[in-house]
Amino acid sequence: MKEFPRPKVVISKCIEFDHCRYDGSMIPSDFVKALQPHVDFLPVCPEMEIGLGAPRETIRMVSVEGSVRLVQPATGLDLTERMNDFVRGFLSSLPEVDGFILKFRSPSCGMKDIRVYSQAAKSGALSKAPGFFGGKVVVSFSDLSVEDEGRLRNFNIREHFLTKLYALAAFREARSEGKISSLLRFHEANKLLLTAHSQKETKMLGNILANREGLGFTDLSAQYRDHLARALARPPRASSRADVFIHAMGYFKDDLTARQKELFLQDIQRYRSKKIPSSALLAMLHSWAEGYSQEYLIHQSIFQPFPEDLVELCQDTQCEWAGEELFTGRQ
Ligand code: SF4
Repeated sequence: MKEFPRPKVVISKCIEFDHCRYDGSMIPSDFVKALQPHVDFLPVCPEMEIGLGAPRETIRMVSVEGSVRLVQPATGLDLTERMNDFVRGFLSSLPEVDGFILKFRSPSCGMKDIRVYSQAAKSGALSKAPGFFGGKVVVSFSDLSVEDEGRLRNFNIREHFLTKLYALAAFREARSEGKISSLLRFHEANKLLLTAHSQKETKMLGNILANREGLGFTDLSAQYRDHLARALARPPRASSRADVFIHAMGYFKDDLTARQKELFLQDIQRYRSKKIPSSALLAMLHSWAEGYSQEYLIHQSIFQPFPEDLVELCQDTQCEWAGEELFTGRQ
């Protein structure tokens, strides 16, 4: 059975971990529950950390002379500095983590589009802005797997979140061994997965490793990590995945009959036309890899980018293509 690293994920504490919301409630999440046996979570509640209890009076973002403040209307408290101090201290003292799961619509944890009001008293929303904690996370950790629990309800976004999370965690482990051979092994095992995400960045990653002479391990791994995050920034496009499937079929050119190849190419066309999901083609390629003992392919992470238990959390073939659109305009 394939072994996976344990990603480290910072999570808004009110999701499955504590009754720390303003009304003393907790957000149930089947997704987070399913992740618990496979992930090391670091739960945090910024509002509790700055001394607000639970339950508590609500807080909101208010525009004051052109800047956004965090205030508690019922007490008149301006919590901006307290929250900014906490966020700075917390984020700068974090160990190396692979991702974040944030509560959406919160003036503290929300990643974006949180209502900003014209005054503390009851009023209409003036504009939208990122939350004080979530917004900082998005800017400071743009290379990690960062999502909010609202977006994670989309199956395709979940799949991308998990794929990136596990790839980053595997790289963190490989890098911690301090050996170039570990980086080479990581690159080898993830080549098809990365190519499906970005041919350009995968080529760059290969070049970094090939032209490593004169580069110390720290610089080499930092350069590689930078381009790895760029490669995984977006989910793969159907056309790039199709190219990878055709490339992988080439490993069986002497094994398959002309008819088998023809049928597989037809299936790739059906995949491009959104008639079958990528998992159907991956299953076929994987069974050929096993059947013909094609070791290089058998160990490619594209066939199992994260633990099997989590696969069903991402399965809804109706959503396979829909999620790409949700990434439009997001870095
Ligand atoms: S959204 Fe963030 S600040 Fe609000 S209760 Fe949840 S963890 Fe705490």
